[in-house]
Amino acid sequence: MPITTEDIVRWINRVATVLHENRDYLTQLDSPIGDADHGTNMDRGFQAVIAKLPTVATMDIGSILKTVGTTLVSTVGGASGPLYGTAFLRAGMATSGKDELYEADVVHMLESFLAGITVRGKAQPGEKTMVDALTPAIAALKEAEQQRVSMAQLLRRGGTAAEEGMKATIPLLATKGRASYLGERSIGHQDPGATSSWLILKALADTCA
Ligand code: ADP
Ligand code: MG
Repeated sequence: MPITTEDIVRWINRVATVLHENRDYLTQLDSPIGDADHGTNMDRGFQAVIAKLPTVATMDIGSILKTVGTTLVSTVGGASGPLYGTAFLRAGMATSGKDELYEADVVHMLESFLAGITVRGKAQPGEKTMVDALTPAIAALKEAEQQRVSMAQLLRRGGTAAEEGMKATIPLLATKGRASYLGERSIGHQDPGATSSWLILKALADTCA
C-alpha cells in the first residue's frame, strides 16, 4: 500500500510530538559531548514546522517536505538546522509532484534525505553523527524493497536498523561537529543527532504501521 499525502502530514506531526516529548532526553545527550541544545533546537524547529503545515497540507508530498526543509533552515540555529533542513529539501525534491509513494519511492525519498545531510555536513559513516543512524537504515530499506516486503515491514526494518546504528555511535570517536572538539572524551556517549534521526524514522514506521 502506498504512503499518501495524509500519511506524510501525520508523519511530520508525529515527529513534532516525539521530538517535543524527547526534548530533554536529546538535550541531555548533547550535554557531555556538545552544548546541550539539540533537544531545544529540534523542538523549536518542528514547532515552527507545525505552525506552517496547515498552509501546505493539501499540496503534493514534495511541496510539503520542501516546506519542512526551508522552515528548519530558517528557524534552527546550530548544525542540525541546515543538516535536517537540507535533508527534508532533498527528500522533497525526490518526491516532487507526487501524491503517493510506493516502496521504491520511499527508499528514494530517504536516500535523498541522507544525501542532503552528507552534501551539507560531509560526514562519512563512523564519525559519530546522524549519518551513523541513517546509513544502515537506508541499506536495510533497500534490502527490504528488493525482498518486496510490505510498506509497514519495510519501514519497521529501517527504523530498527537506525536504532542499532544509533546505539553503535556510543563507542565511536567523534570527528565531525562540536563533539569532535572533545577528541577521545567523546567516546562512550550516544550521539544526539543519531538519536533524533532514529526518532524521525521510527515516527514514519509508527505512522504507517
Ligand atoms: P550544534 O552541534 O551546533 O549544537 P545540534 O546540537 O543541534 O547542533 O546537533 C548536533 C548533532 O549534529 C550531532 O549530534 C551530530 O549528529 C550532528 N552533526 C554535527 N555535525 C555534523 C556533520 N558534519 N554531519 C552530520 N551530522 C553532524
Ligand atoms: Mg548542540
